[in-house]
Amino acid sequence: MSNTSPTLAQLEQKDTFIRRHIGPGKGEIEEMLSAIGASSLDDLIEQTVPAGIALPEPLKCGEGATEVEALNELKAVAQKNKINRSFIGMGYYDTHVPNVILRNVLENPGWYTAYTPYQPEIAQGRLEAILNFQQVTIDLTGLELASASLLDEGTAAAEAMGLAKRVSKNKKANAFFIANDVHPQTVDVVETRAEMFGFEIIKGEAEEAAEHDIFGALLQYPTSTGEVKDISDIIAAVQAKKGIVAVAADLMSLVMLKSPGELGADVALGSAQRFGVPMGYGGPHAAFFATRDSYKRSLPGRIIGVSKDTRGRPALRMALQTREQHIRREKANSNICTAQVLLANMASFYAVYHGPQGLKTIAERIHRFADILATGLTQKGLALKHSTYFDTLTIMVDNKEAVLNKAYEQGLNLRADLEGAVGVSLDETTTREDIIALFDVLLGEEHGLTVEDLDASVTTQGVKSIPDTLVRTSDILTHEVFNKYHSETEMLRYIKSLENKDLALNHSMISLGSCTMKLNATAEMIPVTWAEFGQLHPFAPLNQAEGYQKMIAELAEWLINVTGYDNLSMQPNSGAQGEYAGLLAIQRYHESRGEGHRNVCLIPSSAHGTNPASAQMVSLKVVVVACDANGNVDLDDLRKKAEEVGDNLSCAMITYPSTHGVYEETVREMCDIVHQYGGQVYMDGANMNAQVGITSPGFIGSDVSHLNLHKTFCIPHGGGGPGMGPIGVKSHLAPFLPNHTVVNIETAGKNCGAVSAAPWGSASILPISYMYIKMMGSAGLRKATEVAILNANYVAKQLEGHFPVLYKGNNGRVAHECIIDLRPLKEASGVTELDIAKRLNDYGFHAPTMSFPVAGTLMIEPTESEAKYELDRFINAMVSIRQEIAKVESGEWDATDNPLHNAPHTLADICDSDWNRSYDRMLAAYPAPEVHRNKFWPTVNRIDDVYGDRNLICSCPSIESYVEE
Ligand SMILES: *Cc1c(COP(=O)(O)O)cnc(C)c1O
Repeated sequence: MSNTSPTLAQLEQKDTFIRRHIGPGKGEIEEMLSAIGASSLDDLIEQTVPAGIALPEPLKCGEGATEVEALNELKAVAQKNKINRSFIGMGYYDTHVPNVILRNVLENPGWYTAYTPYQPEIAQGRLEAILNFQQVTIDLTGLELASASLLDEGTAAAEAMGLAKRVSKNKKANAFFIANDVHPQTVDVVETRAEMFGFEIIKGEAEEAAEHDIFGALLQYPTSTGEVKDISDIIAAVQAKKGIVAVAADLMSLVMLKSPGELGADVALGSAQRFGVPMGYGGPHAAFFATRDSYKRSLPGRIIGVSKDTRGRPALRMALQTREQHIRREKANSNICTAQVLLANMASFYAVYHGPQGLKTIAERIHRFADILATGLTQKGLALKHSTYFDTLTIMVDNKEAVLNKAYEQGLNLRADLEGAVGVSLDETTTREDIIALFDVLLGEEHGLTVEDLDASVTTQGVKSIPDTLVRTSDILTHEVFNKYHSETEMLRYIKSLENKDLALNHSMISLGSCTMKLNATAEMIPVTWAEFGQLHPFAPLNQAEGYQKMIAELAEWLINVTGYDNLSMQPNSGAQGEYAGLLAIQRYHESRGEGHRNVCLIPSSAHGTNPASAQMVSLKVVVVACDANGNVDLDDLRKKAEEVGDNLSCAMITYPSTHGVYEETVREMCDIVHQYGGQVYMDGANMNAQVGITSPGFIGSDVSHLNLHKTFCIPHGGGGPGMGPIGVKSHLAPFLPNHTVVNIETAGKNCGAVSAAPWGSASILPISYMYIKMMGSAGLRKATEVAILNANYVAKQLEGHFPVLYKGNNGRVAHECIIDLRPLKEASGVTELDIAKRLNDYGFHAPTMSFPVAGTLMIEPTESEAKYELDRFINAMVSIRQEIAKVESGEWDATDNPLHNAPHTLADICDSDWNRSYDRMLAAYPAPEVHRNKFWPTVNRIDDVYGDRNLICSCPSIESYVEE
């Protein structure tokens, strides 16, 4: 024994991130191993993962860096990006993110770590923020019904085409019209979608739309090159021939312009980016989508609606959930699951903060600058392509390249893809100095113009740049919420009041099976709001994006290594979009070999609903393959179905480990069978948290997979988005990866259209996954998988004496998640899975995944980030709930007068002077000792879904309706 102090070298030992990311420490891991009867993590993995699929060698993702090292290194990479002033436009504009929103929403785990609001009683805050987003959309577009955000403007336009086909009364038409002046990337995404639906695309001048036999048309307002023209006659003419008209619109311009709804449009869509969300090299941003009330069942994506709770108070929830896309499977309108909730919230807060008057001032200032710029340029003899505009001028120039280069030298980016012209789009951040800098570039420095002189002439003489018929006269944002919180103090409190209503990962574990709600480390989040990543336009010249390109290439290399594939596309901006892009690659591959007739996709009955929904988006017929009693894909049925389909087999979509939470021993055989019939194997990568470092889709033998970077690779869920769904492919599919019409992607297919509006999807959240891999390194990544499996087995073991665990592998082990069966209990006691889910709220927990993939069950995925302490707290809550159920079973508690049936309990219940239940208040609200230390109060009682769907209201209710009778 010595009592000498540690040496400096010992004190200097690096604090590894690995032990911060992985919840259980060494001692806890030992305890849990012994509880489940495994001698070591290696022993557990050997018992759990079939030997035939174990990777022969370690990952090649380097050694884990510390937080400090990784941040320093990434900062140096980020600084290789050159941030010019951006005037490119094309749907992406610079914006001032209000600091109160930046820090208290975007940088706040209370907002970014929340899950999709499937449990609305503990999600009223973000539901209100999204409802506000719908209200902003409704007010500015002038349509009746809006959705809770889509992925980007391009995919929203593609969804509009799908809606048009579903609802148009011109049933025999198979063509969709796109006006020439729609943003090129939007055209690209819509064309890609149309190709697989088998729709004909007709392009032409907007005015000629009605000359064609079409089921719908897409127009842009203002047009891509900036013109503000009255499209009401065009809309009416198309509608007279039973076509549906969708208008892609710019949200900021709509503050001043007559709305698409007032012009007669059936659908309005676009990006809400410039409402306070950074450009971020392409995303993430929320797209808005609005349509007529009569098309509500055809609306893509989620809708938030108003209903009431059991106390009769207004309460918010996701409306018409039975039409939620991935629940309807192959009957779905679209495959959208993860959307852009966090960004929709930011945009709605931007509108709340500025209010109608503030927005008007911003829009009018942008427009005034455009008038000043236009006046100066035309005074000096330059020609504008259009005499009407809101914020975008298309300027005819003789030597485009010279002008562009001169601008680049001055630190200005102009729109570069027009013939004989450059484009300039102004935005909220435009200053007088910017206008002079633009004059200098476009006119030479001797122009002698001043902003003040030009402003005087614009003010006194006026400029008719918005036609009288298109000036907005209708009010916007009249609802109280947009007229109340304009001081920072009030705004801060409003944001906080909503945050307080929501349970997120900063309160307790969210053990959502299949969704991998793991730690979203602060060090991973910090680079997202660096200006070097935030302020780049997605179409900036590549030589200004060196930092991004380097980060993306390195991340891609790691992900290729992790998945065992050869190539990767970073374009899809959600898991479901990855599925779509992967299936598209498969179909293009078949076509390239003269086998375009292959049109059947085999999908096991246990698959996630986005699988059949995505298959349907590339016109594949879905044939369902049965699962056996152990939860495995029934190999005989797979072989039988593959044989029946024969030559028409396109592919099979499998999830591994299966959604039943087991590593199927036969997975290689499954791949072989599909290949034997000429099909391709799509492996859904949502369960990669059970594979990383241990096995890989490529090694197992599949051809393509998406990764949910917002599950396995630490991008937070944001309350239902954003996400990223890059796809890895074997080399034979690489020529069919999505490219982009504006920015050529070296590693993509040559003639392949885009699946997202931006070339690298939601690029600005990629630093999160980059930081995660950088800090974990090869060994840390594998350890994370091992502990994820340990945690799931520990939970399964502790619960199995109380609830049956539904599926297990050969050695009695589960993978990274487990399913507990509640059906026998329901049979015996009448207590439902919903009662249990809501009762968990009283204990301070979010419910696990309910009734997926098996009705009447809960699927629990604890992830590696939860320490044993938290797992035990959850287990104790479940055991305690089991004892409560026993009291209902035995008749000690009445079938309805019991804390399960009445869960969750609110303060209103507890303070009610009429409390007359058979159990006491303490048991209702504080059912476990730990709850006393950190009580979470649901703010509404159980919500009536049926009432909300029958009385669909998707706009902000009046404030009076909140006053209790
Ligand atoms: C989450 C998930 C998806 C869909 O991913 P999104 O990013 O939500 O579109 C697909 N398959 C499985 C198994 C999933 O868990």
